[in-house]
Amino acid sequence: MMNTERLTNGLTAMGVPFDQQAVERFAAFHAILDEYNARMDLTAVLDEDERIDRHDLDSVAPLAQGLLAPDARVIDVGTGAGFPGMPLLILRPDLKLTFLDALQKRIAFLNDALARLGLSAQTLHARAEDAARMEAHRERYDAAVSRAVASSAVLEELTLPFVRTGGVAIAWKGPGVQDELTAARRAAFVLGGTVRGVVSAPVPGRDDWQHVLLLTDKTGKTPKAYPRKAGTPNKKPLA
Ligand code: SAM
Repeated sequence: MMNTERLTNGLTAMGVPFDQQAVERFAAFHAILDEYNARMDLTAVLDEDERIDRHDLDSVAPLAQGLLAPDARVIDVGTGAGFPGMPLLILRPDLKLTFLDALQKRIAFLNDALARLGLSAQTLHARAEDAARMEAHRERYDAAVSRAVASSAVLEELTLPFVRTGGVAIAWKGPGVQDELTAARRAAFVLGGTVRGVVSAPVPGRDDWQHVLLLTDKTGKTPKAYPRKAGTPNKKPLA
């Protein structure tokens, strides 16, 4: 059973508004995750309190920072079992969310979870490098979010092509981000972006994690040559 008090105390401490329906959906989402985890390897199995902190509260950091406008179009690149996208959508059903992952079993899980939670969103089974070349997705989003997918320079190439000029790419990072910033700045420059900087994204009671969000503004169009073909961004990071 989910410790709803831990969730609601955490959200309150972060200054993120929620209603009863959101709390119920978090609990239902955890139950669906458990059901799937019992038969397939979907995410690392965590104890309930850690799952709330590591997945739910960590995922909603952009809401504490006021980074997502009402009705914003958001793509979650490499969403896995739905993080950060699902907690963001549960708290902000107004968001127009697209969940993207290269693994079909994760997309199938998300389709089932969305239907059972009564939430609507788009899901996309594709590599980011391929999806960002599709007209329906290229430079169509107000924000691209991504957690635990790649190093910062690689992430710039996997996320910025989805973002419209004036939008933002948001990457979840730890204290190691400082070592990645120079490369991220160079990569962003090539891709029509400008690194705005790093903002602290604390999870209540977990100060030792030192989580941050790396924010990159989309300041111009991404040249047609990017992203490069699937696999190349990882093999040969731009910077
Ligand atoms: N974002 C989730 C989280 O924080 O729990 C999942 C992180 S998991 C370590 C990385 C996910 O990114 C995997 O589900 C993988 O399939 C996906 N992924 C990695 N590279 C990708 C790419 N180029 N395009 C699409 N998905 C990708």
